[in-house]
Amino acid sequence: MRAYIPNYQLITSRSLSDALSLLASEPGVWQPFAGGTDLMVLLEAGKLPHKNYLNIWNLAELRGITASTDHLTLGALTTYTEVQSDPTLRAEFPMLCQAASETGGLAIQNRGTIGGNIANASPAADSPPALLAYNAELELLSVRGSRWVPYQSFHTGYKEMIMQPDELLARVRLPRLWPDLHHYYRKVGTRKAQAISKVCFAATARVNEGVIDLVRIALGSIAPVPLRCPRTEAVIRGETLGQGTIEKARFELAREIAPIDDVRSTKSYRLRVSLNLLEDFLLRLAASRA
Ligand SMILES: Cc1cc2nc3c(=O)[nH]c(=O)nc-3n(C[C@H](O)[C@H](O)[C@H](O)COP(=O)(O)OP(=O)(O)OC[C@H]3O[C@@H](n4cnc5c(N)ncnc54)[C@H](O)[C@@H]3O)c2cc1C
Repeated sequence: MRAYIPNYQLITSRSLSDALSLLASEPGVWQPFAGGTDLMVLLEAGKLPHKNYLNIWNLAELRGITASTDHLTLGALTTYTEVQSDPTLRAEFPMLCQAASETGGLAIQNRGTIGGNIANASPAADSPPALLAYNAELELLSVRGSRWVPYQSFHTGYKEMIMQPDELLARVRLPRLWPDLHHYYRKVGTRKAQAISKVCFAATARVNEGVIDLVRIALGSIAPVPLRCPRTEAVIRGETLGQGTIEKARFELAREIAPIDDVRSTKSYRLRVSLNLLEDFLLRLAASRA
């Protein structure tokens, strides 16, 4: 059943401060509307519960990609197309570009935003594992001011997050990494394109004098929230590359995650794929050093 359009209201703010004032004046009444690629699906299906929307698409302060010595910072309205075409992102954060290139089709990539992907809080979203593996931080903005939070602490439960109703997600900050870092990103779905993930795996690692001295692993689509896997990382860190490390890592990941069963897949399939991807990541890391 389609939604009855006259029931809905959409306001376009002239400025960021107007937008924040509106959110603060009636907290929870106005919901941000960015690219609309998630919201319009719900509207079409008659399942959009919220009635009042604040169009933030034209807020220039939430756009653009800037580089400093330590960080790359993306406005929340950065689209997937913009992510893929940024040369610094491609060179230093290839997993985010790969996630963007595998998100929907071209129309979705032109309109869908990184901020919308995060704030929509779907556990099956494709950028979050890459953002977790890159230690991303988020700027939440309100009339009360700005606060930066680690992305790892953003999602608190299924579709629950620490962002308050009067806050906008303004920017995503990525700490710039070492040049010799290995990146590994895999989205596993029913098809190669236009598919919702069954498992999404993102990992980075660095090998120094034969020892893995940095490793970050994150998974999407297997739990109510995107997951970082610190226990498996701890088992790998400080080890050399070899079959022993792979076996210990597989054993620990199997204990660390408890994949979900849902319409898209089963927990046993998700567990098996997650372990195989972990092994593939470590094998490719070893091959890259050979
Ligand atoms: C055909 C199709 C294919 C898709 N394929 C994929 C896919 O492969 N992988 C994937 O991960 N996603 C996919 N999506 C989902 C969607 O495109 C993404 O989640 C997209 O990033 C959402 O961004 P948006 O700007 O369109 O968000 P919107 O629809 O505008 O908003 C989504 C939610 O985020 C909130 N929000 C948006 N921006 C902000 C902000 N700055 N501050 C606070 N709250 C905010 C909104 O209030 C809303 O709750 C697909 C969608 C469609 C329709």
